[in-house]
Amino acid sequence: MADPRVFGGGPRPGTRACWALVLVALLAAVAFHGGRRAFIRAWFRDGPPGPAPRLAPAPAEDPVRSPADRVRVVLIDGLSESVAATLPAMGALCARGIALRVDAGFPTVSLPVQHVLWTGRTQQQSGVWYRTTPLSRPPAGSLPAAVPGAVAVAESHRSIAGSFGFERVLPEAGDRFDDARAFEAAAVRAVASAAPLVFVHVLRVDAAGHAAGRASRRYGEAARSADALLGRLQAAAPGARFFVLADHGHRAEGGHGGAEPSIRIVRACVAGPEVAPHDGTNEPPVHMVDLAAELAAAVGHARASGAVGRRLPAARRAPSPGATLPRASSARIAAAALVAAAGVAGAVVLGAGRQVAISVWFVLALAAFAARYGAPSLSVPAVYPPVGRDAAVAMTPGFLLLAAWAARRGARGRVAPVRTWAAAFSVPAGLVAAAFVACAGRPPLLPYATATVSVGLLALAFGHAAAALGFAAGCLIAARRRPGVDDGPSARPRRPCAGRSPAAGGPVS
Ligand SMILES: [Zn+2]
Repeated sequence: MADPRVFGGGPRPGTRACWALVLVALLAAVAFHGGRRAFIRAWFRDGPPGPAPRLAPAPAEDPVRSPADRVRVVLIDGLSESVAATLPAMGALCARGIALRVDAGFPTVSLPVQHVLWTGRTQQQSGVWYRTTPLSRPPAGSLPAAVPGAVAVAESHRSIAGSFGFERVLPEAGDRFDDARAFEAAAVRAVASAAPLVFVHVLRVDAAGHAAGRASRRYGEAARSADALLGRLQAAAPGARFFVLADHGHRAEGGHGGAEPSIRIVRACVAGPEVAPHDGTNEPPVHMVDLAAELAAAVGHARASGAVGRRLPAARRAPSPGATLPRASSARIAAAALVAAAGVAGAVVLGAGRQVAISVWFVLALAAFAARYGAPSLSVPAVYPPVGRDAAVAMTPGFLLLAAWAARRGARGRVAPVRTWAAAFSVPAGLVAAAFVACAGRPPLLPYATATVSVGLLALAFGHAAAALGFAAGCLIAARRRPGVDDGPSARPRRPCAGRSPAAGGPVS
């Protein structure tokens, strides 16, 4: 093992060195906090256009299903597949047509998923990954913009539907209807009209999911009332071709955005005259770009440029599971593995020695997070807040362990800064950096890896703060025991303490 004095652990930096360590740990905590904030801000920026997903190509001749005079698209925002399967009106409509499972891609966020539906291009193709603000103009190839007379009726968040070029968007003013009755009346009127394309965006289920979670009574009630509305809409236009879908589900505790199958895969159906029934609810999911291709064909439009979705019969024959999810390349994974290994090597080179066992605080912190919230995912609301108090509270066991270790080390005067840092943080920092390498990009979004970096940076920020507190306690103990206490392992008190306070004088360990 390296001589600790080489790394500043030699005799008599004493109390000053101890407090310097506290200060450095606090500064590192602030730096990791700031880095995490910048990282999270980068999630919400659009990226450059990317390549198309690798889907089995559509056959040269699409199956014949003539366009419909009237197409009605009902999107129940945030409706989980498991709950959709219990709804009577949706079940009846789906039983008369093609019942499907649809993979919404990633991230599972309302505006980007609608972007996929209306353009036929995935989030990665368009660069619209995690946009929560409206588009300034309709995207290229947007279907509603190509259909004269297209109408959208949005229960709330009018700006989402308003981003895609509908000729008319209701409500005319404001971002939401005054109440549910006004929304439902407007939706029924629009659906019953002669407009060639009507889109009804139901948002009460998503609102209930955010407020109380999928497992709540409120969510169930919202889903049933949305289903009742669907029944009324279908009755108002029995000859129309209906597309019914959700854009994502919700966690039992509420939240969406990640790539978990329970969030990303939703129930959908296409029903109406000339649509032969087919129950695909036990088949692998097709992709949102496939549903977009079917929708464009129903409206009588050619596939938009760059759209690679297949009509439903072809998509069902070659579902290509997971093909519309972003993935890290092999080179990226290899680079991430190297970075993780560098964290371990750093601990060895910097002389952490057996003290590196304290790195287990990081494992404990992540395990405690997972016990509270599950695997880190963009569906977990706790990964977003800048301060991250809830996630930090969940990770407390790891921080307590680290603080206790730091206090003991400080009290013993073992305050060699580099070696101390390497013991506690080299391996955790290497692991977080590896996850960052896996997801780095514009935007830095990758299923699970992005959320892991957020949680990891939070652990590093609060971990440094906990270590600072622990060192501070240790410094105080050491100072009370022996003012100007020696530093380094050689100074471990093995003789009666000469401090002013005999009660506080014994070894803290
Ligand atoms: Zn939502």
